[in-house]
Formats: sequence, C-alpha cells, structure tokens
Amino acid sequence: MKTNVHLFKTGSRTDVGKVRKHNEDSLIIKPPLYAVADGMGGHEAGEVASDIAIQTIANEAPTSVDPNALRAAVVAANKAIIQGAREGVGRPGMGTTLTAAVIEEDDLLIAQVGDSRAYLLHDGELQQLTRDHSLMEELVSSGQITEEEARYHPNRSIITRALGSDPTAQPDLYELQVSAGDRLLLCSDGLSGMLEPEELERILAGDEDPQKVADKLVDAANAAGGFDNITVLVIDIDTVRPRIEQKRRRHFRIGIISFLLVFLLLTAAACTGLYLYASNSAFLIAEDGQVSVYRGLTGDIAGISLKWHEESTGVALRDLNTTTAKRLEQGVQMDSLDSANELIEQYRQQIDQRKSGDLGVGN
Ligand code: MN
Repeated sequence: MKTNVHLFKTGSRTDVGKVRKHNEDSLIIKPPLYAVADGMGGHEAGEVASDIAIQTIANEAPTSVDPNALRAAVVAANKAIIQGAREGVGRPGMGTTLTAAVIEEDDLLIAQVGDSRAYLLHDGELQQLTRDHSLMEELVSSGQITEEEARYHPNRSIITRALGSDPTAQPDLYELQVSAGDRLLLCSDGLSGMLEPEELERILAGDEDPQKVADKLVDAANAAGGFDNITVLVIDIDTVRPRIEQKRRRHFRIGIISFLLVFLLLTAAACTGLYLYASNSAFLIAEDGQVSVYRGLTGDIAGISLKWHEESTGVALRDLNTTTAKRLEQGVQMDSLDSANELIEQYRQQIDQRKSGDLGVGN
C-alpha cells in the first residue's frame, strides 16, 4: 500500500436538479481515487446501481496508477451491480456510468464507462479528457449531427455502454500527465449537458477555491434548467512540481552515485592492473654496498611506491665492474623475479671468474 498519497484540495457537490425527484448520482473522494457515477433504472434503482459502483470501486481501486488494477476494479463493480439485481437489490436492468480517476504525483489514470466526463483545465484552457459512450457521441464523431444539435437531441441520454447490463463490459482507460496548477473536473451529464464548454471553462478558471467552483457549476446548471441530476468533483492539482523536483533530485543523486561507482570501479581496476604488473616485475638495486632484489617497480607512481624486498644477495658492489655498479645505484628493472635472479647468478659467475683470474695472475 502506498502511504504518501497526496490530499489535493477538492470541491464537490451533487444536486437533484430542477426536474427529477431523486438524485441517482454518486461520487467519492478517497485519495488517490476520485469518482462520479450516474445511475439509471428508475424507482430509485439508479441510486442503488451508482452506489454499488462507487462502493466497489472504493474497495477495489488501486492506490497507485495501475491500469490493469483499475480495469479489474471496474469489472468487479459491473459484476456487483449485475449480481445485486439478480439478488433483488435494486431492480433488473439498473445501470450506471462511472468515471474514476486515480492521481499519483503527476500521473493521472482515468477509467470511463458511459457519459459522465473528465475535463482538465490547463493554463486556463479546458479540454475534455474522456469520450462518451453514447449515441450522441457516435452521431457527432461520424459527422451526422453537430455538438450543438446533440445537446438538444431527444435521444441525448441514450448511452451505449454502462455498468450493470453487459457482464463483459470493459472501461476505456486514459493515462496522462498533469501539472501543478491544473484543475481536474469529474461530472455527470447533468452538468456537461446543461452548460456549453466555454461556460464550464469560464467558471473553472474563475475562482481560486475548488468548493466555490463546484457550487457555481451546480448553480449554473440549475439556472440553465437543471433537467438532470448534477454532480461535480473539482480537484486542484497543487503540489506536483515539488514532487517532480524530488524525483529529479533522486535521479540526479542516482546519477552521481552511478558516476562515483563507475569511477571507483575503474580506479580499482587500474590499481589492480598496476598492482599485478608491479608484483610480477622485479628489480635489482644497490643497498648498503650490496645488491638487493625487489619485486615491484623502481620508481614511484603518483607518490606511491610499489616494491617489496625479496632478498639481500650478498653480492658486493665493489666486486662488480663500475658500469654495472653505477647502473645498480639507479636500479635495474627486470620483467620478472626469475630474470632478476638469473642476473644475480650471472654477477656471481663473473665475480667468481674474475677472482679466479686474479688468483691466477697472483700465482
Ligand atoms: Mn444523468
């Protein structure tokens, strides 16, 4: 379970309208879930259907932006309504729309069935996020009627997909990014069917407080006739940017850490390589008048000397010829300990030969 769910500032209102006797709409605010449902079925069954949908989605919806989990929650809501009708809860044929949003940081996920809607006000401009499952939507998108004609069409309330009838019904899913300052509106058709998009935009952009906006939207729909139940849910996306910065900072930190790790690994590899090279090398050097054998390298590398004393050979410098002795003062680098030992052996032989020669001369 996610624990850092952000509580966006919200405003909401559901209203019976001016014509209907019952309010069959339902809504829920259970961050990070926000949803509206518009029930139908008559004789109070619509209320039951929309309530079952909202309760099920509240229990089953994911607490993060997880499209498959949200889809599964909507499928569960559909089954629960069908089962309810079968068991005598509500009435057979009852159904509901559902527009459910899950917001996690700057990710918005919407599940859509029916003709309730989600709109986003971004930079003062309103865009409709969802596509209705309705006869009007089909007629408008196929170019047979205009949006204006759809608004007053006698069949404007016929929806082509709902929860509660088809056991295989699936939601449409929408995933998008939101920014701080955006305002999300979820509403039933009692709002969107009564007000022009320009009017929705004007009211949504007009006030700081989301509850005042929700009230104004409902009042405006009622003033326009209030033919249907009106439900509005306004969510102010207010703190996305700092969260994005946190995410960026995290990425930056991960970048720095990765860089340091790579740097350390490369340095370690270089050191290991150098160490192996040095420990396999050897050199001879004059020390206290005799020749010593070292493993390692004669000089320093970046102030570090890589040498390990192997043996003081007892080969005296004064017994060697002057050129060799001078070279040994500086150190004679060899490619291995074996070749260093071989050279020592050669020195010894030369000294033996010279000494036996001297003796011969002396004799
Ligand atoms: Mn309605």
